[in-house]
Amino acid sequence: MGTYVRLLIHGVQGSEVADLCLAELARLQEVFDRFDESSEVSQLNAQAGAGWVSVSEDLFAVVQTSLEVAQASGGAFDPTVAPVVDLWGMREKDGRIPDHSPPDAASIGALLQRVDYRQVEINPRLSQIRLPEGMQLDLGGVAKGYALDCLLRLLEDHGVQSALIDLGGNIRAVGKKPDQTSWRIAIRHPRELDNLFAVLPAADQAVATSGDYQRFFFWQGKRHGHILDPRRGYPVGALSSVTVIAPTGVLSDALSTAAFVLGPEDGKALLESMPGVEGVFIDQQ
Ligand code: ADP
Ligand code: MG
Repeated sequence: MGTYVRLLIHGVQGSEVADLCLAELARLQEVFDRFDESSEVSQLNAQAGAGWVSVSEDLFAVVQTSLEVAQASGGAFDPTVAPVVDLWGMREKDGRIPDHSPPDAASIGALLQRVDYRQVEINPRLSQIRLPEGMQLDLGGVAKGYALDCLLRLLEDHGVQSALIDLGGNIRAVGKKPDQTSWRIAIRHPRELDNLFAVLPAADQAVATSGDYQRFFFWQGKRHGHILDPRRGYPVGALSSVTVIAPTGVLSDALSTAAFVLGPEDGKALLESMPGVEGVFIDQQ
């Protein structure tokens, strides 16, 4: 998934459960990694324009939530943003996106015609998805949050009472620390990376942060973060990070990306429209 995984699992079976978690993540990687030709999402992308495709429960669930958040955010979150992400060269090499010149406006404009979540069709009864020709899904803004939910279920199935899972900034605490105090989840300062901006008490909720400080490149003194506005085709710049607290990982992940694109006002309105959702916005200043 192109990021770190931190699993802190207390209890006698802690290391066995951690191994099961890593196996589960490897399984999910084979569903969601669009840079692996043999992954399920790559196979779906390869069949764009070729009709209905039957997909796994995992892929269906993530696409369905993605489309719901796309609609709720007016397309600020859009799982069909892949062609523009690729045009911008937002792929990491050796842990960072190499600095390079941004694409020209005409190329961006041409590709935007292939970005539109409203053209993705889903059939829940048959667990099928249909993509129009030229469309490609990028579930990188939501798959880690979904994986978090899968790991949580695994921990619950194994009776784990105390754990903290962190999938590249998608975090879920289980129970309390072994000393019976509450877990606390820190939000990193987006410009002073060794410092904390705030600390949240962890409840039974998922916490996801989207920011411009982990994945970005510079060109002529300007920072270009890896989150794009799918309606315009350009990186967004009003915020430096958004943290979203939500009942599920998949929702917190998709909403943090959406709120990052929408900015402080519209982003706040989106989060307020969702039951059980809260957020922390950090602007550039
Ligand atoms: P990270 O992956 O760094 O944790 P996010 O969860 O915010 O951060 O997801 C960013 C990823 O989502 C990008 O790398 C890209 O694959 C994809 N993406 C970028 N912009 C959007 C967008 N507006 N809507 C949906 N997905 C996006
Ligand atoms: Mg996200």
